[in-house]
Order: sequence, then C-alpha cells, then structure tokens
Amino acid sequence: MNLADYRRAARAWLQANVPADGHPETDPIATAKEFMAKLHDAGYSGITWPRQWGGQGLTQAEERAFAAESRGHALPTYVFSIGLGMTGPTLVDRGTDAQRERFLRPLLRGEEIWCQLFSEPGAGSDVASLQTRAERDGDHWIVNGQKVWTSVAHHADWGLLLARTNVDVPKHKGLTMFVVDMHHPGVTVRPLKDMSGRANFNEIFFDDVPIPDEHRVGEVDDGWSVAVTTLLHERLSISAGVGMGGQKDDPTSLEALRTSVDTGDPLVRDELVELHIRDRALALFNQRLAQETEAGIFPGARGSAAKLLLAELTMYRADLATRLAGPESVLGDHPLARAISMAPGMSLGGGTNEIMRNIVGDRVLNLPPEPRVDKNVPFKDLKVGTQG
Ligand SMILES: Cc1cc2nc3c(=O)[nH]c(=O)nc-3n(C[C@H](O)[C@H](O)[C@H](O)COP(=O)(O)OP(=O)(O)OC[C@H]3O[C@@H](n4cnc5c(N)ncnc54)[C@H](O)[C@@H]3O)c2cc1C
Repeated sequence: MNLADYRRAARAWLQANVPADGHPETDPIATAKEFMAKLHDAGYSGITWPRQWGGQGLTQAEERAFAAESRGHALPTYVFSIGLGMTGPTLVDRGTDAQRERFLRPLLRGEEIWCQLFSEPGAGSDVASLQTRAERDGDHWIVNGQKVWTSVAHHADWGLLLARTNVDVPKHKGLTMFVVDMHHPGVTVRPLKDMSGRANFNEIFFDDVPIPDEHRVGEVDDGWSVAVTTLLHERLSISAGVGMGGQKDDPTSLEALRTSVDTGDPLVRDELVELHIRDRALALFNQRLAQETEAGIFPGARGSAAKLLLAELTMYRADLATRLAGPESVLGDHPLARAISMAPGMSLGGGTNEIMRNIVGDRVLNLPPEPRVDKNVPFKDLKVGTQG
C-alpha cells in the first residue's frame, strides 16, 4: 500500500474507532486494554516492530503517518507509553528470543502493562550510582532496594529493573538489567501525588524478590549499555509522543488555544504564530531523526536535543496559555490548571533539561565533557546517593 493510501486507511479507522466525545471514564484501564487489542488487530500497534514478535514490520514513514493522523484524536494509550516507547524497544534490541516471544506480543495487544525502574531516592540524573542490589542465588537473583518516580507502576504487570550486581568495580560497570514481575510478593507499590493532584508515579520497595536468570536482559554487569539503549529510546519516544495518545485533550495545544482565545487580537495572533513555528520546528526535527533512522543512521544523542526542545515547548505552551487565559487558569477546577501544573514534569522525567544540555554538549557538539572524578573508583568506595 502506498503512503497516501495507508494514511487514508488510518484516518478512516481512527474516525470509526475513536469516540469523538472521549472514552468512558468508568474503568480507564479496561478501556485502554480493549482499545490496544483493537489497535493491534487493525495493524496499528508496533508499526515498526518485527512481524515475528507481533509488530507490523513497516517503516518510520507509516509510524509517522499514523501518529500524524492520531493527533486530532484522544487515544487512551497513555498507560502503555512506557512499554511501547521504552521497555519494548529495549527488548526488541537487547532481549533474548525467548524474552521477545514471551513479552512483546502481549505488550502490543495491551494485555500487559510495563514500567521502567531506574530512578532511586539517591540516583536520578546520576542513575549509575543506584543502590538496589541483585544478588545471585543459583538460577535466580534476589532483589532488595527502593525505586522512585516510577510512572504507571500501580498498573504495571512487568518492570524493566536496573540493579547493582557488583560493588567492587566502578559504578557504570557493576549494573545488570532484569525484567521483574510487579505482582510478585515482596514488591510494594506506593503511589506518589504530583502537584497536579494526579498519582501517576510511585515509589517501589523490593524485599527479597526473586528474579529467574532467564529474565536477565544482556550480560551480567553490562546493564549500563542496556540502560543507554532504553534511555535513547525514551528520549526519542517522548519527543515523538509514542503512545501518548494524540493532542486532542491538551488544552494548551495550538488547536485548543485557537478556539478558546480572541484570534481577532493581533498580539494574540503573533503569539499563536510563534507557537505554530515552534511546534513545526520540533515536528520537522523529529521527522528528520525518523528519516535518518530509516536510512540506518541512528540519531543517538540528538534524541536528547529533541527531548529538550519538547520540554521547552511544553513550558512555553503552558506559559502562553496562562497569559492568554489570565491568572484564574491555575485555579483547581479550571480546564487549564492540570495541564499547566503538569508542564514542568516534562523538564525532569526522561532526564532533566540540564542533563540533556550536558549530553548535547558532550556528544553532539563535542565540547569538553564534564569532569568524572569517580570514573575508575570501585562503587563500594564512593559516597554516593544515600550511601555512606
Ligand atoms: C513526570 C515524571 C515521570 C518520571 N517517570 C520515571 C519512570 O517511569 N522511571 C524512572 O526510573 N524515573 C522516572 N522519573 C524520574 C526522573 O528520571 C528523574 O526525576 C530525573 O532523572 C532527575 O533525577 P532527580 O529527580 O533525582 O533529580 P537530581 O538528579 O537530584 O537533580 C536535581 C537538580 O540538579 C540538576 N543536576 C543534577 N546533575 C547535574 C549535572 N551533572 N549538571 C547540571 N545539573 C545537574 C538537575 O538538572 C536538577 O535540576 C520521572 C520523573 C518525572 C518528573
């Protein structure tokens, strides 16, 4: 099918299958799961993933065409965004065939929800200083420790967990990646409320949780290279909005602002044009990264530039919406209040703006890297995180 036909078919499918007046709120997770199964049956879930593992084996061009058509709809897929954008692509790239066989199709069909267990109270930007331990016990690993800010973990069936397996080597060299069963006894999930009032992320405690060795992703002590794969996918998927579910419900989007403000005012029109230019610049940058990926050029650290631009655009939109709607827009029940209070989170989740700038400076612009005094020091001798 040529791209124009593909796009037409996607448009027709979305019109027929996404209710214009939103999805029922009564059981959002059941609604999301049902929708994902329909999306997969129709061939729109895992568009670029290999067919062998339940994907469609198509290219970035089809993925982008579907994303563009989805923009005007509210797809209830948010709870799957970590699986679709981060943990799933990590298993596609780095998992064993048995792991791909077991996990990828249920993810694409919305049967299982995933979370990403990297950050800890003492390890966010410097995630390689994490302290959650996994100790070998025969053909299992026993996990103890704490994670934090874990999005959608309260709904998750599986988590991609980065844990320390060796304290005698420098911090980046003693980590291993695992798939952990979030329903196993010993896993405690406690929701945390953010300032928008939502409890979408959690703190997680692991008490003697066993993980079979076949759920290890990558080699023992080579978890950092697997984590880098996840983080690259994370930054690209956040900036491209993978699984985020369109913009229909975002009251700070250009589409929404255009209908809610006085566009007869030339100053307002100037502001909206500026927003349009920024939106368009980011879309074109994302398109270029996607085209390069298709041509076999991996975007690498430039995904961090795209994520940084999206974080800045999100704050710009929220700020503009607040200025146009007036100070009451931040009050609790105002339609803009939630979007405005959630906007700063984009500058933190997936890596902060400062860290994105460090990465771009170091690996895109080849500026001198930050000094790393701990690079060759065994982890056990470091005073990092909450240790020591
Ligand atoms: C909405 C949201 C969802 C999230 N979801 C997840 C998730 O699903 N899974 C997960 O594992 N984590 C998740 N996180 C955690 C996120 O990855 C961390 O918050 C982030 O990496 C920053 O870590 P931190 O909060 O510990 O801040 P810190 O690392 O303590 O940083 C504090 C401040 O210091 C600055 N800073 C730190 N180091 C440097 C440096 N070297 N140079 C310059 N400035 C620096 C930072 O930019 C920041 O301003 C989420 C966070 C948010 C907000």
